[in-house]
Amino acid sequence: MTVERITELDDWPFDVRDLFPGHPGDGRISLTIATHLIRTPDLTVLVDAGNGDGRDRPGMPAHHMLDAGWAVRLAERVVPDDVDVVVCAHLHPDHCGGLTTGDGRPAFPAARHLVSRADLDALRAVHRHGEPAGLARTWEDSVAPVLAAGLVHPVDAREDGVDLGHGVRLRSAPGHTPGHLVVEIGPPGGPEVVIGGDVLHHPLQFADLDLAQAGDADPARAARTRRDLCERLARSGGLLLPSHFAPGRVRQAGDGFAYTPSR
Ligand SMILES: [Zn+2]
Repeated sequence: MTVERITELDDWPFDVRDLFPGHPGDGRISLTIATHLIRTPDLTVLVDAGNGDGRDRPGMPAHHMLDAGWAVRLAERVVPDDVDVVVCAHLHPDHCGGLTTGDGRPAFPAARHLVSRADLDALRAVHRHGEPAGLARTWEDSVAPVLAAGLVHPVDAREDGVDLGHGVRLRSAPGHTPGHLVVEIGPPGGPEVVIGGDVLHHPLQFADLDLAQAGDADPARAARTRRDLCERLARSGGLLLPSHFAPGRVRQAGDGFAYTPSR
């Protein structure tokens, strides 16, 4: 079993208050966009597909017309046709934009795409209303073609614990989106690795788990999910592989948590 981290962007800058409206400070912070490739003895599993290059995302300048070469770097690690399973932590554009090629075909044509049903329903509704336009486009160019090809297997929240074998499980982690998923590896209850998606966006949230990210659909639920994930990781000593900052380990620190990047 191996887990590889393939980054799309290493420096994705934001004004801290644009990302965290409740943060008392100001200045700029930098995120990454990272995706992960799990190889078990049976399956090659891609977790998240990045933003993708050349995506027209009206009103979303951070996601608009990237030129980052993620698909090329991924193809150096795995032939896209050899990906067996694609998991999307959620359906925001920086996690599902790479599900299709530039000409709108599914990028992983042999893969079962495991996507939260709640997030599918939410994005379908956004598309129906046409707003916000950048998310409506995400449905059109990144999700709808994969659905039309019959490759999407919706995951219900009640299916918590979807098992991919060899200790790889999907786990419901709602709040940032209604159906946000994380991928855990290891014994149930004691994860050795958690691919955490957007449960946390930046290490400054460890000291203040209530600090909502501007895109959190349900901030109170998102805060509970952050605490639950931190408690599980602090207990197990497992490694967190987040989408938007460096991998590391979580430990209890007073009433909150502290984070130590692993490299
Ligand atoms: Zn994200």
